[in-house]
Amino acid sequence: MIFLDAAATTPVRREVLEAMWPYLTGEFGNPSSHHSLGDTAATALAGARTTTAKALGCRSGEIIFTSGGTEADNLAVKGIALARRAADPGLDRVAISAVEHPAVEESARYLERVHGFGVDVIPVDRYGQVTEEALAAVLGPRTALVSVMYANNEVGTVQPIARLAALARGRGIPFHTDAVQAAGWLPLDTGALGVDALSISGHKLGAPKGSGALFVRGRIRLEPLVHGGGQERGRRSGTENVAGAVALATALTLARAAQPRPAEQAAEGVASDVAAEPAQDPARRVANLRDDFIAAVLAGVPGAILTGHPTERLPAVASFCFPGTSGESVLLELERQGVICSSGSACAAGSDAPSPVLLAMGIEPEVAQTAVRFSFDATVTAEELRQAAAAVGIAVAGVQALGT
Ligand code: PLP
Repeated sequence: MIFLDAAATTPVRREVLEAMWPYLTGEFGNPSSHHSLGDTAATALAGARTTTAKALGCRSGEIIFTSGGTEADNLAVKGIALARRAADPGLDRVAISAVEHPAVEESARYLERVHGFGVDVIPVDRYGQVTEEALAAVLGPRTALVSVMYANNEVGTVQPIARLAALARGRGIPFHTDAVQAAGWLPLDTGALGVDALSISGHKLGAPKGSGALFVRGRIRLEPLVHGGGQERGRRSGTENVAGAVALATALTLARAAQPRPAEQAAEGVASDVAAEPAQDPARRVANLRDDFIAAVLAGVPGAILTGHPTERLPAVASFCFPGTSGESVLLELERQGVICSSGSACAAGSDAPSPVLLAMGIEPEVAQTAVRFSFDATVTAEELRQAAAAVGIAVAGVQALGT
């Protein structure tokens, strides 16, 4: 099997498993306990927090460990918006992009439904990017929070986060970004990005499912969503997942080792840093393989359409529409040929409805229904992608011939 669905999830890396193992077994203490087992767990948790903070270029007190990306997004969107409105009742709107993951979109809709907030949806261009003009057009004196994802999970488009964040913060509005798909591929320095909150998830990076973190800048007030014993400085109660935090920190460190050093990053426009990285960089290597794969699919499949931005995209995501097919049929056919991929996002898989992300990019519903996403991890090889591209040609032709 050639696994090309790494944007859905990744296996736990051996180094990660080894780092977390002690905290699942012998060193099983509760970090709040006042005895030696508890102290060991607390020390491990503090170490994981420091490491995570280092990877995100922030202070350890600004890291909240969560059960993953969904919880981190919920806490950021609801927690910041509710705290801001509590301080100033006039702050009763949130702005989100039209291509957010449901974790952000549904959090905003919850604020609308239950708390009476207004939701401003920032349109995207045909590549799925938010422009500064589009963001500026929705911001107003009542905007409590802006949330725009760093990189899209369905098409891989990377947003100009530093510029968008500067625009919002210039007006005194906190800026959150969902960096779940960007983590491991793009620079995560929260200072350079200029964001106030950033979400990450362990299982996209080689840590287990159910681990994640939210960075929230120190001065930003946050209304907790989970109440109880006051762990995570009162911002997220519940006995901490020590092994999960250690796993996340280890996975981030391993991914960071594969990142370009800051000096090699362009001074501005983080989105274009991907293209500026040196040839030996793993992200650059994978991006080159991705470009060859995209070229092979476009050349080998008549009518195939690349979705998302042609260059400002995650190194490891190639996404297409194959008009005249159904995405689900192509997936099944590809799996029969040994290639595992996805119709867009794991959350939407199995649903017949066209992807809202593709619709927001102006793609017709009947074309959007033919979407297929290929996403790789850093170990992908040229030979795997050569075989996969050949399989795509056969699968699409087969599905078109059957008229399904
Ligand atoms: N945000 C994005 C962009 C994602 O791709 C995902 C997962 O697919 C999530 C959030 C949710 O993360 P988790 O699966 O850790 O809850």
